Amino acid sequence: MVAILPQLDPKGDTRRSALARQQRKYTYKHSLVEPLALLEKVPRADKPSLRWWITVMKVVAENLANSLAIKVEQASHGVISFDDDGDESAEVKADLEMLMEDAERIEAGDLAGMKADDLEGDGPVSFGDDDGFWSRVKRRVSGKLAEPEVSEESAGPKSSVAEKAESSVIAEIEAAIAKAANSFLSTGDTVPRVEGRATSLADYDAIFCTIDVPAIRGTYQLDRTFARMRLAGPNPAMIEQVKRPSSNLPITEVHYQVAMDDLEDSLDLAGAEGRLFQLDYAGLDGLLEGTYPGFRKYMPAPIALFAVPRSGDARALRPVAIQTEQRTSSASPVLTPADGEAWLVAKNAVQVADGCYHEAVSHLARTHFLVEPFVIATKRQLSKRHPLHVLLEPHFEGTLYINDSAQSALIAAEGGVNRLLAPSIDSARIAAILGVQSFPFDEAGLEKQLVARGVDDPEKLPDYPFRDDGRLLWAAIHAWVSRYVALYYADDDHVTGDYELQAWAAELLSFEGGRVVGFGQGGGVKTRDYLIEVVTTLIFTASAQHAAVNFPQGSVMSYTPAQPLAAYAPSTPDASLLDVLPPLDQALAQTELGRSLGLAYYTQLGRYKDGTFRDPRVADPLSEFQAELDRIEAVIVERNKHREPYTDLLPSKIPQSINI
Ligand code: MN
Repeated sequence: MVAILPQLDPKGDTRRSALARQQRKYTYKHSLVEPLALLEKVPRADKPSLRWWITVMKVVAENLANSLAIKVEQASHGVISFDDDGDESAEVKADLEMLMEDAERIEAGDLAGMKADDLEGDGPVSFGDDDGFWSRVKRRVSGKLAEPEVSEESAGPKSSVAEKAESSVIAEIEAAIAKAANSFLSTGDTVPRVEGRATSLADYDAIFCTIDVPAIRGTYQLDRTFARMRLAGPNPAMIEQVKRPSSNLPITEVHYQVAMDDLEDSLDLAGAEGRLFQLDYAGLDGLLEGTYPGFRKYMPAPIALFAVPRSGDARALRPVAIQTEQRTSSASPVLTPADGEAWLVAKNAVQVADGCYHEAVSHLARTHFLVEPFVIATKRQLSKRHPLHVLLEPHFEGTLYINDSAQSALIAAEGGVNRLLAPSIDSARIAAILGVQSFPFDEAGLEKQLVARGVDDPEKLPDYPFRDDGRLLWAAIHAWVSRYVALYYADDDHVTGDYELQAWAAELLSFEGGRVVGFGQGGGVKTRDYLIEVVTTLIFTASAQHAAVNFPQGSVMSYTPAQPLAAYAPSTPDASLLDVLPPLDQALAQTELGRSLGLAYYTQLGRYKDGTFRDPRVADPLSEFQAELDRIEAVIVERNKHREPYTDLLPSKIPQSINI
């Protein structure tokens, strides 16, 4: 089946009836994270693959091994003793390891030669090793077959043994991971007894028993690293150029000149020359502060000013001043790098605000939830024979499932976000919803974002890795999409005549459908150029943009002191850093969650599965795209020899889709 536009397809009736089935299967629900458009129920076909489960399970098993080692370590020092439930995580870990072995074998095709009858028969069946792998698979598969709901949603009767074994192992992995996650995100006795306030920063090292401490530990307190995180950190798309500081940040020329170590420079000059930059977390001001799971948490809403020096080594961005709240007061004065521990507390307040903004807005809202309605509308309105359905499907793999997990577990009451983030869960959800609604789709493209924030000019802001590497990827994706679209749409008339595409756009905009903001050309899609821009934005957001904000959860945010997700005391000038930083069990939970979400790499940008494109004309543009990605990889590797390395936009580390 070669992709074809609907207006040219002789099988129009077949397409229509297939779409009608899809529309019954994929339905919108606007009350899950009201009023956003999410999917009501994830069909079986959209559950993750076995390979995805193996990828995630490896990280979860490492986390479990680490937490067990913490327990053992503490038991040997007499800090804790194993009690009745002390072995629960050991059991979960053993289960996961066994399941992982099974999963690897199934994925490697080790079931070849088995017959369905072997699994369904009554008598004893020999699979080679009676008490080993095959017997366990048999027990599971026959157990599952007895449960009627297993095949309820499946596309057809399961015919192959491999499929049965796979779905049964997946079900067990899902249950084991849920159990593991629950044991760490609950406040029950299964949490390793790393707890209480840290008495020194070294206490946080105890969290990393069998896992590596992220490299950020060695540098995060440096001003250079603090500035660098704005340009190559977890939230690299927030900093804005300003002509002058916010009027509620009353900084003096003396503050500025001392911070810049340059008596000839001034705020006016830096502003006029485009060298002044600011982070303003006004959007967090007034959010309700959370208290789950029993701690009082504090949500700063700081303003931070930065500048690029007039000259000097690489003209690296420097922090100039921070005020930890929107209003100046004795509790939140203007602080500068000359202020000792108060400056450390102020920088920590920025990291807390930035971490909350990152998770709720930059990550969840502006990648996961931004893409969701497009996934649903594509399933419902574009036939599987539609060239855009064929192109987009790999970039949507796993998104419906991970978003459903996010809304039902992660951002639910007493879920991971509730536990770790400073705002109450209601406030965090509202921040995410507003994050979607305040981000018009047509403004979401990389270059438009860079221009809107005034950070597009390398003369004014040199060495901005997210921008510089991101531009290479945007151009490569844009070229690939342009060539692909040109194969099917000879001109704009083919676009306006594509009635499936027009229905897709209408549904995305509708109140009953996607509720997408700032999208479409008068309610539809009128030109090829606009279509190319939309598809490029979708693929870039699902791949590069998501990778940039997702994976630093593992490499940076899993070392909690570098970016805590809440403050545990007011960030006042007299506060001690250790009082403000998270208690150790909260820090461990942040490490676990950060690693689970930020170390699971599944699929790779541009590497489409065999058979994705049946149209032979796609081969050339695709190999050009892949060659371009290889070239970009080499360019970034070379850049990293001459700058502080930034690896989140290496094409080899960018998944095809939002799947974690
Ligand atoms: Mn993610």
